[in-house]
Formats: sequence, C-alpha cells, structure tokens
Amino acid sequence: MNKNSKLCPEHNICLQTIEYEGELVEQCALCGGLWCSLNSIEAILKKRIQKFDKETIQTSKDYNFPSLQLDMKKVKFEARKCLECGEDMKKHDFSKSINISIDRCLKGHGIWLDKDEIDRIQVLVEDGK
Ligand SMILES: [Zn+2]
Ligand SMILES: [Zn+2]
Repeated sequence: MNKNSKLCPEHNICLQTIEYEGELVEQCALCGGLWCSLNSIEAILKKRIQKFDKETIQTSKDYNFPSLQLDMKKVKFEARKCLECGEDMKKHDFSKSINISIDRCLKGHGIWLDKDEIDRIQVLVEDGK
C-alpha cells in the first residue's frame, strides 16, 4: 500500500508525510491533524529535542483535553476510522500518567492527534518528570 494514500479522517484529503523531530508522521494540510504510528510517537516523546517557550508550556497546561468521561457523557462524536485498517478508533487514555484521551486504533496501528496536541502531550510528558 502506498504510504501517502492515507486520508484525513475529517477532510478526506491525502495526508502529507512530514518529519517531526526526526520521525516521519502524516499531516493533514487543512486541519493540522497528525497520524502517528505508536513507534513514532514513543520515539518523539523520548527525544525531547524541542524546547518549548513559556507561552506554549502555559497554554498547554491550561488546555483542557477532552477527558474520557466527558466524551461518554456529553460529547457525541463519530468514531474516526483507523487510517490503516479502517476500523473505528477508540478514545483512549494516552497513558497512565497522562490523563488525556486520544483516538487510537485498538489493533495498534497508530493514533490521531488534533493540531497542537503533539506539542501539548510533549509539554505534559516533560512536566511530569
Ligand atoms: Zn484534516
Ligand atoms: Zn488499525
């Protein structure tokens, strides 16, 4: 399968392969959403190349990620489909220590991050240490 044939789950346009901290990820040019394989996101979080300025750090801490419970109770969302296998992705806690929910393929193909979420996750990971 062609690597660049993945489509944005929101816009149905082809994602562009970009390099983020040395890892190849797929990005939608319209919404800035990112498709990352689990290996890529782990590698990105380990590297910590990027230094965030104070403003980014503060807005990230203030940013309310949709919590899992909120999704269940209030937010009616249509499940996005995995870009690899087409199955519904599930909102899932990012990790035990980082209590945010992201779209994840339960078969482990990857995760979908909305614009800026990758920065925010990195700030939270770094802050948590
Ligand atoms: Zn998009
Ligand atoms: Zn999948």
